[in-house]
Amino acid sequence: MQKEATVKQIRSLEDAVERCQLLGMRVSRQRRFILELLWQAQEHLSAREIYDRLNQQGKGIGHTSVYQNLEALSSQGIIECVERSDGRLYGNISDSHSHVNCLDTNQILDVEIQLPESLLREVEERTGVRITEYSINFFGYRQVQE
Ligand SMILES: [Zn+2]
Repeated sequence: MQKEATVKQIRSLEDAVERCQLLGMRVSRQRRFILELLWQAQEHLSAREIYDRLNQQGKGIGHTSVYQNLEALSSQGIIECVERSDGRLYGNISDSHSHVNCLDTNQILDVEIQLPESLLREVEERTGVRITEYSINFFGYRQVQE
């Protein structure tokens, strides 16, 4: 089965809100706060960090509400959910993209990487699988290692 090509990619907060509405999800105040934070922060945050930041901004929102909204948004593919050994992190981009994992800070940075066609063809030839999308995990340090 081909993936539905007519579904618009989510490229902004407005796109994310629009997708919620398209799926018939209610965009409650709390849900909007979470989406706004993820699009402002441009990083991958844990549920705990999202809760802390929203409450620091004076946007009172309960723990349970944060967890439930993150679950609903990620299960619908509106936000990204990264499974890590120390828990889940959430990000604003739901399309396939690559990550740079910083081993100093434990941060995950999003990067758009375009692999050369010849490399994709090689992978296809080796495996017999037609590649339609990919996501690469890079690992490294910010500081130069002595
Ligand atoms: Zn990401």
